[in-house]
Amino acid sequence: MKKNILLIATGGTIASTSTEDGLSPGISSEELLSYVPEIKDYCNVETMQLLNIDSTNIQPEHWVMMTEAIEKNYNKYDGFVISHGTDTMAYTSSALSYLVQNSKKPIVLTGSQKPINLPITDAKKNLLDSFRFASEDGVRGVYIVFDGKAIIGTRGRKVKSKSYAAFESINFPLAAIIDDRRITKYIRSEKNEKEVEFYKSIYPSIFLLKLAPGMEPDVLDYIGEKYEGIVIESYGVGGLPFLDRRNFLQKLQDLTEKGKIVVVATQVMFEGSDMDIYEVGFKALKKFNVLQAYDMTIEAAITKLMWIMAQTKDFEEVKKLFYTRINEDSLY
Ligand code: ASP
Repeated sequence: MKKNILLIATGGTIASTSTEDGLSPGISSEELLSYVPEIKDYCNVETMQLLNIDSTNIQPEHWVMMTEAIEKNYNKYDGFVISHGTDTMAYTSSALSYLVQNSKKPIVLTGSQKPINLPITDAKKNLLDSFRFASEDGVRGVYIVFDGKAIIGTRGRKVKSKSYAAFESINFPLAAIIDDRRITKYIRSEKNEKEVEFYKSIYPSIFLLKLAPGMEPDVLDYIGEKYEGIVIESYGVGGLPFLDRRNFLQKLQDLTEKGKIVVVATQVMFEGSDMDIYEVGFKALKKFNVLQAYDMTIEAAITKLMWIMAQTKDFEEVKKLFYTRINEDSLY
């Protein structure tokens, strides 16, 4: 029997048309479907127009809206495809992985680098692939489907700003390859008997600071006044500068004494942090209450913190949840 899939449209290039001010989302969810009639060969589809915005405008509150839309329709459909801009898609896929836990049904995010109404576009393939993947038996949880790859929600990252191969799976194998004829799954979803859980609060106020040589540590004074959670994109396997007048460790002390939650991550895309290796990391990790991101993407680290800090701001509780595996298939 054909599965019933709900398309939740949110905008992005896939739904954009040319305007005097540049590309802007304007194509409706129904119109999107009309460009790919083959989808109906694989599943029954209904659509919902949740938003129609460039994903640069996506905010954490929109992730809660998406969660609510999925929850409201969860029993009615076998799976969900969310069309979305590519710019913040990896943030949305990570956030939904924490906001919708233990889903027995697939939630597939997709988009495109070219609008669907152009003669040459990746939109039709990505949309069709997404519905095919969402109609597969045994696929559960959140994914990005793009350019023939299915990537686990917490592992995706936009790595190309223009080409069709825009997304990569970071520090984790692809979930599946989708070609014209078949879907080859590399990861079998873990059996998970837990009930699906929807979280509808998020703590949006997390600051991401990318280190560069020369940065003055007192920038953390300001950040500490405005934000409760800070992710620092440091270098290499993770560490903070402490020489001379640019001593970040001193600031770390002030922040952690005030109860701020600090996660140290790395600017390097692959392989992640391991702060025990060098003095610059070891000192920060051992002397202060800081967490490290290990091999998580920045997108996953930030959104996991947003999900956790909506529940607690106590360091020990945050630490426990941050290091707890939420999605069996992704290790985060
Ligand atoms: N600016 C667009 C967006 O993220 C880019 C895209 O969809 O490819 O909404």
